[in-house]
Amino acid sequence: MNQCGLCERDLEAGYLCPGDTLALGERLERMPKLYGALAGFLSPAVRATTEFVSRSHATASLPVDEAVLDLRYGGIALVLEGWRSDVQRVRGWGEPAITGDVEERVRRAARWLGMELPWIAAAYPAAGDLACEVRELEGAALSIVGALPDRGRRIGQCVAVDSSGVICGAVIRHQPGQTRLVCDWCHCVYATEQDWLLLLHHQPAESA
Ligand SMILES: [Zn+2]
Ligand SMILES: [Zn+2]
Repeated sequence: MNQCGLCERDLEAGYLCPGDTLALGERLERMPKLYGALAGFLSPAVRATTEFVSRSHATASLPVDEAVLDLRYGGIALVLEGWRSDVQRVRGWGEPAITGDVEERVRRAARWLGMELPWIAAAYPAAGDLACEVRELEGAALSIVGALPDRGRRIGQCVAVDSSGVICGAVIRHQPGQTRLVCDWCHCVYATEQDWLLLLHHQPAESA
């Protein structure tokens, strides 16, 4: 019996549960967009006119924001490329060639990792560390640019069980006014009061 490297739930096999695999895939997909959004925050003067100013950053007086600079010209690309390089190493493939400007490198590394996600979740022992680092990277970027468009409130993890007895675990979100929720991952539907109770009742003790 394995454990998910991120949320530590038990798994039949592999290193990342379906829910965390899905979340990682979404983060990788959003990363180039987030990288692009950071450009607007390079200069604190620009940020002062934006609504999403977090207090900790509002006092910055440097002409260029160092945290943004780190993420844009190192952080994001280097982290993603570092993981790509390690996955290739573990699979016995050569080092990836790194070309293009930083934006291109972010896009390419994020897409490559996204495409290799099934293998990473199933066979890469460090999958949990990868997922954790990508989540932290996204958190750091979001703390600067503010939230990306609202995807709804997280109400829990999907509790559907597949034919092999594995719990789905994908994040279920609720938008205002929605009465019928469908799991993005397994397409399980939550629509009745019974469904809601079941969903709430079977939540993992500590959902991250
Ligand atoms: Zn997990
Ligand atoms: Zn599901």
